[in-house]
Amino acid sequence: MNLQRVCCLVTLSQVMKVASLRGFQSVAVLARDKRAELRLNTAVVYRCCSTVQGEVRVRFAPSPTGFLHLGGLRTALYNYIFAKKYGGTFILRLEDTDQNRLVPGAAESIEDMLEWAGIPPDESPRRGGPLGPYLQSQRLDLYSRIAQELVERGHGYYCFCSPQRLELLKREALRAGQTPRYDNRCRHLRADQVQAKLAQGALHVIRFRLEAGVEPFQDLIFGWNRHEVAQVEGDPVVIKADGFPTYHLANIVDDHYMNISHVLRGSEWLISTSKHLLMYRALGWQPPTFGHLPLLMNSDGSKLSKRQGDIFIEYFCREGVLPEALLDITTNCGSGFTSKR
Ligand SMILES: [Zn+2]
Repeated sequence: MNLQRVCCLVTLSQVMKVASLRGFQSVAVLARDKRAELRLNTAVVYRCCSTVQGEVRVRFAPSPTGFLHLGGLRTALYNYIFAKKYGGTFILRLEDTDQNRLVPGAAESIEDMLEWAGIPPDESPRRGGPLGPYLQSQRLDLYSRIAQELVERGHGYYCFCSPQRLELLKREALRAGQTPRYDNRCRHLRADQVQAKLAQGALHVIRFRLEAGVEPFQDLIFGWNRHEVAQVEGDPVVIKADGFPTYHLANIVDDHYMNISHVLRGSEWLISTSKHLLMYRALGWQPPTFGHLPLLMNSDGSKLSKRQGDIFIEYFCREGVLPEALLDITTNCGSGFTSKR
């Protein structure tokens, strides 16, 4: 199977998914009418999918805390195909802000394996690009500036709670059979108390103030979604005590400044999207469109584990598996295509 055919098949699947969303009915009809033609001619697919407005920029954003595995390759592949379908840009961004868990060599290997598989990024740490750098550890000033902006706008605050206090809160919650959550205590510190603690050099993090009243969003795959996060979670940390951002802040800042139009990521992030949308709202930014991709599972329904050696792309590369064959399998797993081959 060549890649053009892969693109074509996934395009059909995507078109039919999009067809089920409100406001895209005409695309559905067009897709049905043109099905035979679409299989043969990618140019037709291009015209048929012109409902996506503006420049398409998508990203694959793994953290180099491990090597690329089948699940990651599949997420990258869907992003790549989506970008190519719309004449857009496929970006590789490495989320290396958890410095304690970095695996030596993983960052280089992830990009090597994307190239080996035939889905190279257009912009990446190695290739560069107009909106880099593409390594989060090189963008710390930006996150810190945005976190300050959140504090100044009243959407963020300094938290001076010690790790011991947080651990105690957690233990108390577990003892009471409740889900542990931060109690938002530092929300209520007065400005002069905050200034005094900062002047003393007290260790602190910055938290984002979760507001009630989350608006629903339409996910490309899962449809309408909404999680009233303030009811179930304490205010999340956005800048850690070591000055590094957490995933929640870094990913929205980068998606905004890298002009990402569509976020296509694993469905484990679906539950966090309302929180991210609250942050977009607080900063007055237009959010991207979200599409959460179902995860690849083992045949017994269990999650793929990094402890399984035979899920890593380097393993297949070493074993002499052809990249086209691997892409074919990855494309078909969980794709929803009806034809069994
Ligand atoms: Zn606190």
